[in-house]
Amino acid sequence: MTIKKQKTLNQEYVFSGKGLHTGQVAKMVLKPAGVNTGVVFHRTDLGDEAFVEAIAENVSSTARSTTIAKGEASVSTIEHLMSALAGMGVDNVIIEIDNVEVPILDGSARYYVEAFKKDGLKEQDTAKEYITLPGEIEIADEKTGSYIKVIPSETPSIDLTVDFGSKVLGVQKAHWDCGTDYSYEIAPCRTFVFFHEIEYLFQNNLVKGGDVENAIVIVEHPVTKEQVDRLAGLFNVPSLEIDSNGYLNNLQLHFPDECGRHKLLDLIGDLSLAGGLVNARVEAFKPGHSINTRMAKAIREVLSKLNNK
Ligand SMILES: [Zn+2]
Repeated sequence: MTIKKQKTLNQEYVFSGKGLHTGQVAKMVLKPAGVNTGVVFHRTDLGDEAFVEAIAENVSSTARSTTIAKGEASVSTIEHLMSALAGMGVDNVIIEIDNVEVPILDGSARYYVEAFKKDGLKEQDTAKEYITLPGEIEIADEKTGSYIKVIPSETPSIDLTVDFGSKVLGVQKAHWDCGTDYSYEIAPCRTFVFFHEIEYLFQNNLVKGGDVENAIVIVEHPVTKEQVDRLAGLFNVPSLEIDSNGYLNNLQLHFPDECGRHKLLDLIGDLSLAGGLVNARVEAFKPGHSINTRMAKAIREVLSKLNNK
């Protein structure tokens, strides 16, 4: 097996924009970092010491997005950025951010990946860490029927199935392994929401940064013209329509199964909170941030027990 080297960024990158859930505008600076740093967020608005490492022990909430926190320093909706870093093989980076939530950008990981690809990554003088587990780990959620299995293997791979009982989505499957072109197959896939959830989300101030550019909207149940017009009003656009496949025409899909691929994007980001790539075959059914991050935590617990023996 060839030994892969750790990688960091070749230069700094700045991303600014509003967060999907809080609507708060953040400026983020991604900076190259030394070997074995991992991914570390720095809340620059809270001072010189407000660091939070992107590891599973620091996960503080998984309600609709993944939030990490240490002391006062909390950063939410980290999953798409984490996915871009893991998907492109960036091991070490410091992320300065001056507010509570990572900008949603277009709801995917595309802009990060385009930036990294343009300049390439910098290889560092230390071997990349792969996580090797002594046995299989399975986590299941009886309420939702979701499960994730991690089965030790020579090389990392993920197979995922999405089944929301949705006529529009159907059953979607997505796959990743080291031969997958993450930047093309997965990174551009945007987040999605069901039409019938949107009014609730808006009324409860849960998607203050949501707009027509950053989410696929799935229209599962019949809706009235008034409801569609009201949503157009919330989104600040003159009009919206439902296409023949059951999606709102606010944007064009990049892939027919873009939603399933986005779930894979999320899972790659959440699992990277284990602290490295796991030499395992991952099988995920109806994954979500809660079960994804529980698995990342379980992996770290197994490793820490092994190391303490
Ligand atoms: Zn997502």
